[in-house]
Amino acid sequence: ILELSDIHKAFNGKTVLNGINLAVRPGEIISIIGPSGSGKTTLIRTINGLETLDGGTVRLLGNDFIEAGQAENALAWRSNITKLGMVFQGFNLFPHKTVLENLMLAPHLHFEEQRESLKQRCLAMLDKVGMLEHANKYPHQLSGGQQQRVAIARTLVMRPSVVLFDEPTSALDPERVSEVLDVIARLAQEGITMLIVTHEMKFAFTISDRVVFMEHGNIEVDAAPSAILQMREHRINRFIQDMA
Ligand code: ATP
Repeated sequence: ILELSDIHKAFNGKTVLNGINLAVRPGEIISIIGPSGSGKTTLIRTINGLETLDGGTVRLLGNDFIEAGQAENALAWRSNITKLGMVFQGFNLFPHKTVLENLMLAPHLHFEEQRESLKQRCLAMLDKVGMLEHANKYPHQLSGGQQQRVAIARTLVMRPSVVLFDEPTSALDPERVSEVLDVIARLAQEGITMLIVTHEMKFAFTISDRVVFMEHGNIEVDAAPSAILQMREHRINRFIQDMA
């Protein structure tokens, strides 16, 4: 469903992504882990056109693609963005809109859907993430965990083919982390294709079909959690222990 081929990216001459290849099948849950600065966030951002590529291609659904040196392709990609959902570290909700308005805005612009039917769909999505009773509140009236659950619902009402999560819990108070991870884990069971950058090792190894370990802009390991745990001598296991 999503295919990255030989992705390269440098900032000011410093290589951040050094030839990344990754193929994501429909319904797969892939966690991306690795040390700080290894390029995880940059990789996620190049997939949805928030960063341009220096080399390589990104394909979604077999035909849409962006490739190096073509800024206009990145723009075309961005206009197609309904197929890719993104959940950011910092929630990025519109502060002057209610929870329900936050959900309704983008679908209202992109889809020809009757307002009432859209509203019902958004309310159902809020129910799914446990936020229905807060539909008429503003973001500042909510905790970080609640805001992130709203942000996830807002992404999903666009019916994306793939959802990208960029460290969705790292801006949260520790006691708020699990409520967001629980929501993501529940969605993972519904067959939504996900790519998740995370520092939450237990979560990554519980919900993922594959865990990708990045180091110095390379994918060093790409394997099922059970296979990784048996790679006892590999430094990925030292990394996991250090993070635990
Ligand atoms: P972390 O786990 O700390 O978020 P990461 O693996 O997500 O790290 P990235 O955020 O992708 O790493 O950053 C990789 C490297 O690229 C870092 O050295 C960072 O300083 C650099 N970098 C990222 N974005 C930019 C930018 N816009 N301009 C210059 N350098 C950047």
